[in-house]
Amino acid sequence: MKKIKMHWQIAIGIILGVLFGVLLIQFNWGNQFILDWIKPFGTIFINLLKLIAIPLIIVSLIKGVTDLKDINKLSKMGIKTIGIYLLTTVLAITIGLILVNTIKPGRFISAQTRTEMLSTFGQNTNEKIEQASSAKTHGPLQVLVDIVPENLMYSASYNGNMLQIIFFTLLFGISMVLLPEVKTVHLKKMFEGANDVIMKIVDIIMLFAPYGVFALMASLIAESPSADIFKALATYGFTVILGLVLLVYLIYPFLLKFWGGANPILFYKNLAPAQLVAFTTSSSAATLPITMECVEEKIGVHKEVSSFVLPIGATINMDGTSLYQGVAAVFIAQVLGYDLSLMQQLSILMTATLASIGTAAVPGAGILMLVIVLESININPAGIALIIAVDRPLDMFRTVTNVSGDAMVAVVINKISGNSLTPKTSE
Ligand code: ASP
Repeated sequence: MKKIKMHWQIAIGIILGVLFGVLLIQFNWGNQFILDWIKPFGTIFINLLKLIAIPLIIVSLIKGVTDLKDINKLSKMGIKTIGIYLLTTVLAITIGLILVNTIKPGRFISAQTRTEMLSTFGQNTNEKIEQASSAKTHGPLQVLVDIVPENLMYSASYNGNMLQIIFFTLLFGISMVLLPEVKTVHLKKMFEGANDVIMKIVDIIMLFAPYGVFALMASLIAESPSADIFKALATYGFTVILGLVLLVYLIYPFLLKFWGGANPILFYKNLAPAQLVAFTTSSSAATLPITMECVEEKIGVHKEVSSFVLPIGATINMDGTSLYQGVAAVFIAQVLGYDLSLMQQLSILMTATLASIGTAAVPGAGILMLVIVLESININPAGIALIIAVDRPLDMFRTVTNVSGDAMVAVVINKISGNSLTPKTSE
């Protein structure tokens, strides 16, 4: 019998998970049953992916850097990568701002709904604001300071510190390249072996993916808010999703074709497993192992490029999150009755760019950083109570965008570094 392709297996898992969730919540005991007996399998799946993320970054980045053998080449690639990441982020926020100013979703919220939401979700909002104030940068260079860890073990103990791990790993890899080859030959072999082992672990975890996403979707249904809230926020949600779709399926294909020399249809076909896992887990960091596999094995980006561009992208490049932050900030301002000047909108552009770099690649991190964006334009961050109820579903869509953006930039960097796409397996 022909084996069903991985992305179809995951898609079937998602659909069955939703159907199962919808069916079970019809019974009184259904919600609790899902939370007790189904959700844990989803959590195990996410944990497995997160478990492998940091070891994967370390071994693949070291392999990537040592394969390059040339520090000059590496620094050029680094500058190009960061430059393109910034460019796509600014593009994403601009699209978000144009859409939210044109559609004006804020006008669909009545004064009564506004008061209701502010009081119902005020409690959750306070928690977020408190968390965000600890994440707030202390000065303009704090972002840089945060990249350099003072203790490697401490950084490695939390997935939100990925940038610090990347920093140390780059330092390690660069030092290996600078040493005479005889001194590092065994170490290099060891990392190559470890890299193969970790990719094998990813393969094993992927066997569990269809069941993991089933569990995640069923528990999402069991925990979702009432349909009334979705209706009230429908135009806002539509604006965010429209922006994300335009970015992923109009702008990216254009860049892929003319800058990356790739066939966009084939690209998305091969990226589908990563997009589906991003959708269900809402975490670019957890999806990273699968993104790397799709981009290297199926899309055919050279390992030296993907192992450098993707871990950095998963950490700092969040086009979906930044687009959403632009839309959300202006939407909240509209509902609260503020008229934002052009200067304020530019300030959103700047803060959302920086905030998306500082956003951890985990579920719900985007709304935390939104607090900082709102404060930059003097709007009470308590306004996030207006959108918090629909944050999880939107997080799913923006995470897909974040992951797709990273993969797209990997293809572009691959091309401008003079490589062609050489897939090993293809969907
Ligand atoms: N969940 C997103 C990610 O991991 C971040 C966000 O909350 O926007 O990419």
